[in-house]
Amino acid sequence: MKIDILTIFPEMFDSLKVSLLGKATEKNLLQISTHDIREYSADKHHKTDDYTFGGGAGMIMTPQPIHDCIDAVDPAHKALRIYMSPKGKKLDQNLVKQLAEKDYILLLCGHYEGVDQRVIDFDIDMELSIGDYVLTGGEIPAMAVVDAVARYVPSVLGSENATDEESFSDGMLEYPQYTRPQVYLGMEVPSVLVSGDHKEIAEWRKEQSELLTKKNRPDLVKK
Ligand code: SAH
Repeated sequence: MKIDILTIFPEMFDSLKVSLLGKATEKNLLQISTHDIREYSADKHHKTDDYTFGGGAGMIMTPQPIHDCIDAVDPAHKALRIYMSPKGKKLDQNLVKQLAEKDYILLLCGHYEGVDQRVIDFDIDMELSIGDYVLTGGEIPAMAVVDAVARYVPSVLGSENATDEESFSDGMLEYPQYTRPQVYLGMEVPSVLVSGDHKEIAEWRKEQSELLTKKNRPDLVKK
């Protein structure tokens, strides 16, 4: 899967070079490239922002560097072009799965008070929010998208079924998990998990999953 990221802070994406995503990139399962919007600015000082028409606090990213950067990176419009924005559609696990089916996505990261609406109207296919709160830039949201989507790219996660049983995969939160040692600080692992009875274990997990979802996320139960 190919992912192009457009940002004025490409160095923020160095963190994608570690852990599972780093390995996935090394193995070429993911082709992640960052592009510095500032390099496309026609302004002599490489300016990428300006005051807002109509007045108001904060700066807006100007359309020219963003449009030229998108045009250079994806000239034939082959990517699904996404602008990270709190005004966008809210990301959930279903949407993550849909995005993971794409061969090529482009993520535009805004900064300051956002980007000029004309570049969104002209160049962008969808606006995507990672939740109902506002961050200083689209870089962390873009990283969240890359990370969540990468988990569905075949072979990125160690075991093929790793995404099958986890939280949200069936509209529920995942059951509690335990590893060694069997007794820690006097607390024992639930006995059913060491019983070897797979049917009992599956039932216990389903029950725990339901209890936890009711307690922490009643909104999911209603769905
Ligand atoms: N003035 C805007 C917020 C700008 S925040 C508004 O009121 O809607 C600056 C940038 O951070 C945005 O351009 C966007 O790219 C990113 N951003 C902030 N919060 C986000 C969120 N919840 N999801 C996705 N991107 C977000």
